[in-house]
Amino acid sequence: MTGTARQRAIIIGAGIGGLTAALALAGKGWDVQVIERTPKLKPVGYALAMAPNAQRALDAIPGGIVARIHALAALQGDGGIRNARGAWLSHNDSAIALERYGHPFVAVRRAELVGMLHSLLPEGSLRLGTMAATVNAHEGEVTLDTGEVLRGDLVVAADGIHSRTRPALFPGHPAPAFAGLTAWQAVIEADGVGTHIGTTWSSGGEFGMLPLANGWLYVFAEAAVDAPMTRGGHEDGNAELTRRFGHLHAPIPEAIARIDASSVLRTDIHSMRVPLPSFNVGRVAILGDAAHAMAPNLGQGACQAIEDAVTLAYCLSVAGTVADGLADYTAARLPRTSLMVRRSEAMARLATARHPLTRALRNGMLRAMGLLGPSAALRQADFVMRWEHPAVSGAPQS
Ligand SMILES: Cc1cc2nc3c(=O)[nH]c(=O)nc-3n(C[C@H](O)[C@H](O)[C@H](O)COP(=O)(O)OP(=O)(O)OC[C@H]3O[C@@H](n4cnc5c(N)ncnc54)[C@H](O)[C@@H]3O)c2cc1C
Repeated sequence: MTGTARQRAIIIGAGIGGLTAALALAGKGWDVQVIERTPKLKPVGYALAMAPNAQRALDAIPGGIVARIHALAALQGDGGIRNARGAWLSHNDSAIALERYGHPFVAVRRAELVGMLHSLLPEGSLRLGTMAATVNAHEGEVTLDTGEVLRGDLVVAADGIHSRTRPALFPGHPAPAFAGLTAWQAVIEADGVGTHIGTTWSSGGEFGMLPLANGWLYVFAEAAVDAPMTRGGHEDGNAELTRRFGHLHAPIPEAIARIDASSVLRTDIHSMRVPLPSFNVGRVAILGDAAHAMAPNLGQGACQAIEDAVTLAYCLSVAGTVADGLADYTAARLPRTSLMVRRSEAMARLATARHPLTRALRNGMLRAMGLLGPSAALRQADFVMRWEHPAVSGAPQS
């Protein structure tokens, strides 16, 4: 953008997508205002895996964010996918992955990641306890539930999977659909359990562990279910995990036994099966889960939100007008994120397959790929990890 007056962006939502958008836009000279409805920054979920593609995106923002993430995170060593008895179906070599993608796989606590992103925001740019009620896309106006109106050259809708902005921008468009999956998350002390990296695919579900910093383990599981699970009772505790995963190889039963039942977080998974027609309307850009909620099986929901944020800031910085920048943003992000949504759900179907024949074929395929060497499995991930866009490569946009 040219001109002397700083352009202003109103960002709805202080999740990973909204905070990254604020940092990326501020890095390109925008005046940013983030509004968050909750009175405190309290991300939902315990931890997440941050893949090399997201770190590559964050490298495009000034402030050394990736080094700060590495300081908070545990670098993941060799990992992969095991069968119910603990034998490798697919084994990744972390050194080869690092060489291939330029950044390590890391896992980080969400609260620490969000806290760190917040600490880098320009002074006074976050308003907590501030709820966006309506958006006028063409005027760039956000009306708060108090009646106050905020105006921007740009509005970023980063208001998550239950976005209010999405149905207002795209009336009648199908909301994210229940994906036939439910997921559990918890954190336990690793001491004595060991650092078991990766996931185990069993019948109808998967169970995974990722090391976190300071001797903690992030424990997650997912199962195929016919309908969203009811809340409350033992279903939200570790009895359900024991029932579904307690027969799997060591140390999974021990890890489940360590989980504080009251701390288990269970989430029914929804997926944006019908892609939005566009990621921009008027002066509004939509990003992250609000735009393309996906199953967690590629570990890419937050990573894609980060790619969105960095791409948005880049497109606006090189285009002549906000309208052109937003059109470029949609062109760059809609195909890639739609592919991620589809592949994440396909991966979930494989990981949580219930039919014995499907599982036998799946396991055989993974083992056969393993025989081709450690790079073969990694190559399957290239479409995710090898993200090329001028926003990160610095090449002039075509
Ligand atoms: C079980 C599970 C495991 C996952 N694991 C991974 C992983 O390993 N790696 C990965 O990359 N992704 C993972 N994800 C996906 C990831 O959690 C999401 O994709 C990511 O958090 C989305 O970020 P966001 O900023 O778009 O939305 P959110 O984090 O949902 O943030 C939206 C924010 O907007 C605020 N808000 C909403 N409405 C309003 C309003 N009207 N006014 C003001 N504020 C508002 C909300 O309070 C919230 O703070 C996982 C998801 C699940 C369910």
